[in-house]
Parts: sequence; structure tokens; C-alpha cells
Amino acid sequence: MEIPLFAAGSILTITILIVLGTMGIPDGGRTISDDGNNKLVIITSVAPITNIVKNVVCEKVDLIGIVPEGVDSHTFEPTPSDAIRIRSADLVIINGLNLEVSFERIVDAAKEDNPRIQLLKLADNTISHEEWIFDFSFPKEKGDPNPHLWLNVAYVIRYVELIRDKLIELDPDNASYYAKNAEQYIARLRMLDEGIMRAVQSIPVENRKLLTYHDSWAYFAKRYGMKVIGAVQPSDFGEPTPQEVARIIEQIREENVPAIFASEVFPSKVVEQIAREANVKIVETLADDVLPGRVGEQEHTYIGMMLENMRSIVVPLGGNVDALHGIDPRDVCNG
Ligand SMILES: [Zn+2]
Repeated sequence: MEIPLFAAGSILTITILIVLGTMGIPDGGRTISDDGNNKLVIITSVAPITNIVKNVVCEKVDLIGIVPEGVDSHTFEPTPSDAIRIRSADLVIINGLNLEVSFERIVDAAKEDNPRIQLLKLADNTISHEEWIFDFSFPKEKGDPNPHLWLNVAYVIRYVELIRDKLIELDPDNASYYAKNAEQYIARLRMLDEGIMRAVQSIPVENRKLLTYHDSWAYFAKRYGMKVIGAVQPSDFGEPTPQEVARIIEQIREENVPAIFASEVFPSKVVEQIAREANVKIVETLADDVLPGRVGEQEHTYIGMMLENMRSIVVPLGGNVDALHGIDPRDVCNG
């Protein structure tokens, strides 16, 4: 059988990339990064995870987040140059629970050439199978639980502990540095967790319901006492059928919610149609993968994202965010 030309081309490209990817890595030693230092090289996936890691490591490692902000992390595939970076890292930190399967494949393949590469899957080490949540866009029959643990701040505190412990293991010379950063960051996360709890409690009980486009609020809702009544996005990350849309509209009317939620990463005409027909307010500023503001701005952090999310959720549902005033969104390294 003849190999189609494009397939042969891809095989050649992959071979070249594999060769390139293994160049310049000293055997068994630590990666020497571009500027000649011998810092650890850590690769992360989505922006909130990158920022959480940043708060533990600050400037002590070379930290590279691969998934660009504003890109759907559920369908993201690393580019060939991303794959090269992943292959030559010391440590790859991902959310896990099958959010970044493509990263895992690359790390597995890299082990032969780069035996020191380690993979840390945060969510898999934070909750047990019994605590997995399957729901609207992540149904049990598909096998992958909802992976969005990082919208529950208590779970993020566990993420920080896992990151700290792994860094201390890989770089014991800087153990007290990582421990101190983690301690400061956890203190701030505890304030955020408590503030969110109180802000949600300010919403009238009958309004503590979430209907979102992207189904990322399961673990948030469970911790903070809200109910996810549905998600618009089907499990194949496409658009819902007209029958599903009709059912959602009916449900919104029955549940009598004042607002439904979407995000800029998942623009959907369907949500606008649903809001119009169900006669509810639509809030399109929820975020789970995108940090607010621009790189370098104070609120361009995981904590900044959660504060922004709380303003987006709590106020339209009739509550207030007074309990969150004074929480510093800045990275602890800069604070
Ligand atoms: Zn998501």
C-alpha cells in the first residue's frame, strides 16, 4: 500500500522533531536552559495552574505554561515546538483527571530519551475516585470525570502542598524558599476560600443555582453550597441540539433563576438564544482557564480570576461580595 504523501511528510516531521527534542540534554543531568543557568525547567498546562505553580517557585525555576490563554483546554493539542519543550523538561505539572491527555502521551514517549522527566498530576492526587463528579458535560458513561477541581479553593490548597513537596524533592537546596512561599500563598488562599463561602451565603437561598455554558463548576458548587442545575455544552464540546435547548429553556423557567452564565472562551449564540427565550439575564464573564487583565497586571492571577468570577456570579444572583474586599490578588512573590 502506498503511504499518502501528507502522512509520509508528517512521519518525517515527527522524526526530525524527536531528534531535535533530544539534542542538548546532558545525560541524566539537569537541563541547561537558554541563558545558561541550571534552574529546573517546569512545564505546566493551563494559565490558572501555571499561576498556582508560580506562587510556589517564583523566580527559582524556568516555568513555561503551554496552553495559551483563551484557548479551549479540553480540545487543545500541543504544537510540535510545545512537544519539544515538554520532552526536555525536568517536571511537567498538569491538572490531570484526563484534561491534558496529550501532555501525558508526550511525557510517556519522552521517558526513554529523558529519564529524569517527572509528571505531577494534581487533581489525581487531590481527590479519590469516590469524590469524582460526573455530570452534564462529563457523563459517567464516557468515563472522564469533571476535571475542574481548581474552582474549589480548598482543593487548590492541596495543589499547592503537592507542588511544594515535589519541588522540595527535586531541589532540596531551596526547600525553605518553596516552603515559605507555599505557606504565604496558602494563607491567602484560606482567606479567599472563606470569603467565597460568605459571599455565596449572601445570595438568597432560592437563587444559589448555576446554569452555565461550560460545565466547570461542579466542585465549586459542592464546596460553597450552590447547585449546578445544568450545562449547555454537550459532552462532545459541540453545540446542543434544538431539543436540548428547548429542555434547558424549560428548566430555567421552572427553576426561576435570575441569570445564566457563559464565558468568553466559549462564545455561543445558543446561550444568547436561551437567555432571550427564557427571559433571564446572561453573564458572559465566567472564566476557568483565562486570567483577568494582561500579563504583568496585578489581577492577572488565579486569585484575581476567582475574585472576578465571584463578582460575575454573586451579584447577578442577588448577593454581594463584601466578604472578598481586601483580598490581595497579587502573586506572593511580588507582594
Ligand atoms: Zn474547562
